[in-house]
Amino acid sequence: MLDLMEFGERSPEDALAQWRAAPKNPVHPALAQWTEHALRGYLTAAAAVPAAPGVPPTGLRPVSRLWARQRGPVKPGAPDMYEEMVTDRRYAGHGVRELRLVRTGSVKDRPRDSVEIALAVGVLAGGSPVLSSRWDRNPLTLGRYERPRLVRLVEIGCVDASQRILFEGTCEEAYAVYDERVEEALDRIVTGDAYRPGDNCARCGAVADCPAVPSVPGLLGISRPGAHRRSWSVTTGRSYRRCPARAHLEDLLLPRDTSAEDSEAVVRGKAVHAWIESRHRRTPQRPCTPDDVPGPPEGWRYEKWSVTGLQARLGIQMIADHALVCPLRDRPDDTEVHPEETVAAYDPDADVVVLAKTDLLYRVNGRWTVRETKTARVPDEGNLLEQHPQLALAVRLTRTGVLPGDGHCGVELERLTGSGPVVTELDVAAPDVVSEAQRVLAEYVTPWHADARYPAKAGPACADCPFTRWCPDAADGSGG
Ligand SMILES: [Zn+2]
Repeated sequence: MLDLMEFGERSPEDALAQWRAAPKNPVHPALAQWTEHALRGYLTAAAAVPAAPGVPPTGLRPVSRLWARQRGPVKPGAPDMYEEMVTDRRYAGHGVRELRLVRTGSVKDRPRDSVEIALAVGVLAGGSPVLSSRWDRNPLTLGRYERPRLVRLVEIGCVDASQRILFEGTCEEAYAVYDERVEEALDRIVTGDAYRPGDNCARCGAVADCPAVPSVPGLLGISRPGAHRRSWSVTTGRSYRRCPARAHLEDLLLPRDTSAEDSEAVVRGKAVHAWIESRHRRTPQRPCTPDDVPGPPEGWRYEKWSVTGLQARLGIQMIADHALVCPLRDRPDDTEVHPEETVAAYDPDADVVVLAKTDLLYRVNGRWTVRETKTARVPDEGNLLEQHPQLALAVRLTRTGVLPGDGHCGVELERLTGSGPVVTELDVAAPDVVSEAQRVLAEYVTPWHADARYPAKAGPACADCPFTRWCPDAADGSGG
């Protein structure tokens, strides 16, 4: 829409109407509402950015060409040439080059990465217009370089029309930010050999060949791909069950309202989880002990979670109880622990990236086990796989060899309750456990996979939904 306005000279209303009428990619009603809000947020923020020195208020014009620069071998052994390019919104005039980075959220959300700033202002100072296609495999063809008098890097938060200037200075000042620290960080990015499977895998064109994401045809038991590649986790499944629209908006990473507050028990659960995770991350690693607990008992805080009263005392008791069943308790030197490990697999039949965010993956005595930890004052009884679908997913990932241990990775549930700790190990080789896990998984995945519209299920699910502001169907009326 900004392109339509800046290069097609449409008004915001015309641009919105043209975008809404475009027949390709029908968008979700909540995404449409958010996009309109974001466009207006961008325009308001852009109008509030103070003019650069020596530039009249509307003296910058939009630039359609990308800017890039090419740099020869940075050091011995490095590739012959690096190309650095900036996208986002570009403006120029009166000797000034300005790049506006667009954020979906607010500029107050988190500070911008200093390496990113250095890279961007380096290109603003030394870059030329890109004349060839950015997707061409050949080196970019660049136009004539015109040295700017001043370069500016601005960021804009669409959700709250916020803006701030990240850098304003001469070319020399811009090059000076690009120091050794930045070069080292870029080196690590360019040559880095680490794989970080996670939420972005479904947007990655190489996922089918990624060594960190094993391909498992039939993992989900669905034989036809959906409309496009997506990722699925137990969180997706739970959200979808509450409201299909919510699962979709989570997947789109739309900004959330923070007003939807967790209950005291949920906060206590998160605090206990975070505390135990931090104990398992210690180096050298050592077992959790019953006296290593947060305090004081009437109220304590860990990371961003604070608990008081009953929940505070219960949380301390749960943490102390965990020491009795801590996987590190017997052989701390011989045990390998990976807290909060994300395990990813790709199902080419369903065209879905499956993400398992495990609480703890550990190896003791050569045997791998995945452990899910749940905190509840009163332990749940009944069908564990039904109540904890992450266990069903873990069984499936064990059986298909995605988890380490060649099909023999153990699956455990640790329950920290008001009456003590309980660890239950599932028999992952038992046919009834295997088939039940598959059934539970299918109940979550099948309706989600078949859905391409994600209708909102307005009602009680809206009460704690962080997206009601964008949702025209939200029950409380705040969305529309
Ligand atoms: Zn422990």
